[in-house]
Amino acid sequence: MKKVYLFTCVLLSLLLAGCTASGVRTDNGKAAPQVKNVIILIGDGMGVCQVYAGLTANKGSLNLERSHYVGFSKTYSANSYITDSAAGGTAIACGTKTNNGVIGMTPDSVPVKSILEYAAEQGLSTGVVVSCDVTHATPASFVAHQLRRSMSEEIAADYLKSDITVFIGGGRKNFEARSDKQDLTGQLKEKGYAVAYTLDEAKQVTSGKLAALLADGHPDAYPQRGELLPEGVQAAINILKQNDKGFFLMVEGSQIDWACHDNKGEEAIQEMLDFDRAIKVAFDYADQDPNTLVVITADHETGGMTLVGGDISAGETKIAFSTGGHTAVMVPVFAYGAGAEAFAGIYQNTDILPKALNAYGFER
Ligand code: MG
Ligand code: ZN
Repeated sequence: MKKVYLFTCVLLSLLLAGCTASGVRTDNGKAAPQVKNVIILIGDGMGVCQVYAGLTANKGSLNLERSHYVGFSKTYSANSYITDSAAGGTAIACGTKTNNGVIGMTPDSVPVKSILEYAAEQGLSTGVVVSCDVTHATPASFVAHQLRRSMSEEIAADYLKSDITVFIGGGRKNFEARSDKQDLTGQLKEKGYAVAYTLDEAKQVTSGKLAALLADGHPDAYPQRGELLPEGVQAAINILKQNDKGFFLMVEGSQIDWACHDNKGEEAIQEMLDFDRAIKVAFDYADQDPNTLVVITADHETGGMTLVGGDISAGETKIAFSTGGHTAVMVPVFAYGAGAEAFAGIYQNTDILPKALNAYGFER
């Protein structure tokens, strides 16, 4: 009898421990690993066709295909059937539909907390790695709160107000050549940041805080900018993983959008494949640390891109575009690692934030 009692106690406490430690249960009832780290990768303008064009050009495979779960997100904004990257980024970052052009605020200009800010508040390390100016709409949505996406200098100042651990991208001029004559990189150094101006300098930094401003404005298109994105993601993870509580990282393949605005299929493929190499770095980290959730999505599709011909074995594509702007179509969401199953299905872009918070076990 005593033995049975003891056994029951042990079993119960094991079950309870499993519940509190994970909060998430898999289909077979086993406790899934608790999510400590979330990496969201956004391909700006990346619809299904951009993915499949990259896959075809790569002769039939992408790292992205390692994803366990796939969903679709509805991207319309508060005031437009077709979103821009500010409203699209704010929806993903803050879980709120807003008007096109608005950064991290509701349509009536109330600031909304982003996933990066939730993570920082909980003592996690946070980061942003992008292939554009760090003040551009997508990264700004995670760090800043401003009425208009064009307010680059105000957005740069918001980086100083945030508790962000690492940021890597372009936009040096918005920190150093400002109309208000403030020297924001000087202020970053005072706040304990290592400031890097080249990718090699950035890679030397493996702890503490890092501000890597690798171009005056936007970094060049791929391949001219080199391995900024995949190597920047690795550099950021090297720093962020030092925090035992975990981290949040947002990565953007920023220039898929621009190539598609220009209706340049070959350039869109180059940007897509660069983004896919950054995805590999995130997936490989999730393989090392099973408490990691990786989510890949887009803010919207750009160009109305389609494939009207091609040859997978030759890596050839025949691409057509229907617009020089964004389109209204749903965009894919791919998920990998701990808690990935929550991202299957069809839902709003604003559902990504609560899903991620739920994975962490944070209250909204
Ligand atoms: Mg963007
Ligand atoms: Zn665009």
